[in-house]
Amino acid sequence: MENIEVAWIMNEIADLLELKGENIFKIRAYRKAAKIIANLSDDLPVLIEEKKLETVPGIGKAIAGKIKELFQTGKIQYYENLKEEVPAGLLEIITIPGVGARMAQELYGKLGVSSVDELEAAARARRVRDLPGMGAKTELNILRGIEMLRSGVGGRTTLGIADALAESFSGFLKSLPSVEYAGVAGSTRRMKESIGDVDLVAGSHEPEKVIEIFARHPQVKKVLSRGDTKASIVTLMGVQADLLVVNPDQYWSALHHFTGSKEHNVRLRELAHQKGLKINEYGIFRREDDQSLRVTGEADIYSHLGLSYIPPELREDLGEVEAAGEDRLPALLELSDIKGDLHIHSDWSDGANTIEQVAGRAVEMGYQYIAITDHSKSLGIAGGLSKERLAAQGDYIRELNGRTDGLEILAGIETDILANGDLDYPDDILAGMDIVIASVHSGFRQDREKMTGRVISAMKNKHVDILAHPTGRLIGRREPYAIDMDRVFEAAVKYGTALEINSSPDRLDLNDRYVRKACELGIKISINTDAHDTVRLEEMKYGVATARRGWAQKEDIINTMDRDKLLKFLKRRG
Ligand SMILES: [Zn+2]
Ligand SMILES: [Zn+2]
Repeated sequence: MENIEVAWIMNEIADLLELKGENIFKIRAYRKAAKIIANLSDDLPVLIEEKKLETVPGIGKAIAGKIKELFQTGKIQYYENLKEEVPAGLLEIITIPGVGARMAQELYGKLGVSSVDELEAAARARRVRDLPGMGAKTELNILRGIEMLRSGVGGRTTLGIADALAESFSGFLKSLPSVEYAGVAGSTRRMKESIGDVDLVAGSHEPEKVIEIFARHPQVKKVLSRGDTKASIVTLMGVQADLLVVNPDQYWSALHHFTGSKEHNVRLRELAHQKGLKINEYGIFRREDDQSLRVTGEADIYSHLGLSYIPPELREDLGEVEAAGEDRLPALLELSDIKGDLHIHSDWSDGANTIEQVAGRAVEMGYQYIAITDHSKSLGIAGGLSKERLAAQGDYIRELNGRTDGLEILAGIETDILANGDLDYPDDILAGMDIVIASVHSGFRQDREKMTGRVISAMKNKHVDILAHPTGRLIGRREPYAIDMDRVFEAAVKYGTALEINSSPDRLDLNDRYVRKACELGIKISINTDAHDTVRLEEMKYGVATARRGWAQKEDIINTMDRDKLLKFLKRRG
C-alpha cells in the first residue's frame, strides 16, 4: 500500500467524523495527518519498522497506532466501525460536486436529509436556502451537482469543474515519490470555456506503478481503459480524465504536445520543417541526423523554433505564432494584477454571505477594493432592493468603511435594464451610488433590434459604469440573447461604458473572442466574479484566463487600477 492510499483513508475518516458531527480538533488531526502522510519522503512500512512513525511531527500516538494496525491486519477497526455508524446516503451526498462533509452534516442535522434523493427533494422545495451560510445560489448549485452526478460521461463540462479536478489530480500525481513531474495539459490548461476531458501528463521511470495508483484514486468511478503508460478513467462527477506517463526526459515535449491546440501544433511542425527540425511528443530533433535538442522546459521548444515563449492560453493559431516570431506578443494580464472585484452580491439580496464576510475574504485576498452590487427592485425573485433598502445598505456600507482598514467598499447596485431600456431606479438614486452595473435579467426573447437598442440605451446613461454579462449566455444551458455586439462595442467606445468579463465558469461573458475585439477597440473591461458567496470570489482566475485568451493586457482592465485611480475613473462620467 502506497503512502497516498493511507492518506486517502485518513481523509475518509475525517469525512466520516465530520458527518457524525464530531469534535473539530479530532477531524483536523486526521486531515493534517493525511496531508503529512501524502508528503512523506519515506515509505510508511519503513517508518513503522524503524519505530519512527510516532516521531513524525503532526502524527500523534493514536493515529500512528491506527496506521500500524492497517499494515499489520489489513484494516483499521475504528474506520470500519465509523463506516457502519454513518448513513450510507450521506457518503453519497458528499460526492455531489460542491457539497463537502460539513455541509452534508448541516443538511442532515437541520433538515434530516440522509440521501441524494432526499436532498434533491429538499432543494426543490426551497428548504436549503434558509440554512445559515447557504442561500438560493447554493441550493441551485446542489441541484446542478446532483444532475451532474447522475449524468453519464460524454458531455462537456465547465472550465471550473475541469480545472478543479485537474489541479487536484496533478497535485496527487506530484505527491507520488515515483513521479518527477506532473501537470495538466489539453484544453483545461489552455483555459477554454468548456472541456471535453481532462488531460494529465506525468514524467516517471515507473509508469506502471503510477498508472496503478491513479486507477485506484478515490475520485475514480470507473476505469475505461488502462495500459502500461496510459489510463482513462471516469470520475465520480462523470468527467473523463486521461493520464499519460512518459520518461522524465520527454515530459516537457509531451506536456507541450498534449496541451495543443492541434492547430497550434500544426503551425509549429511547419515552422520546424522550415528550420530543418522535427517536433513531436518525444522531443525536438535535427532532421539530418535525428539528434535531439535539449528541452528542459517549454520555453526551450519555442526558442529552438526561433519564437518567444507562447503562454498556453494563446495557443490557438490565432496569430500567436507570427507574433512570437516577431517578438510582439502582448504582455498578458496576470491574476496578481487584479486589485479588486466590482460585482459581488451579499445577503441583502440573493447572496449567501454578509457584507462583513465578503469584506473579510477580500482583505485576505489582498484586494484594495470591492463593490457590493446587489440586485435591483424588479428582480423580486432574487430579493432585489427597494429604494429604501438600497439607501439603508449605502449607509451601512459607509459606516462599515469607517472601521475597515485598507479595504474600500463601494456601495453599488446591479440594476436591471428593463424591457424598454429604462433602468430600475431614477437618475437621482443612481447618481448617489459609488458604482452602477447594468444588466439584462428578463425579456431574453426580444428581437435583435430591440435588445440591442435596450442595452445601448442603458449604456448611454452616464451613471452606468459597467455593462454586466453582456450577452446573457449560460455555457451549455442558455444561448446568448439576440444582440448586435458590434453596435454594443461602438456604444462602449462612444459613451465610455466598461464591459464586463463575468468570471463565473457558467458565464465567461464576454467570451475570449469578444475580449480580443474589445481590447483592439480600446474598450475598458472589468473582470468580476458576480460571486453570491465568498468561495466564489476565487473564480476571478477564470475571468483573468478568459481575458488572457483574448490577449488582454493590464491596461485594458479597470480593476487593475489602484484604488484612487479607479475612484477617479468611476467619477469621470458622473
Ligand atoms: Zn446579473
Ligand atoms: Zn450579479
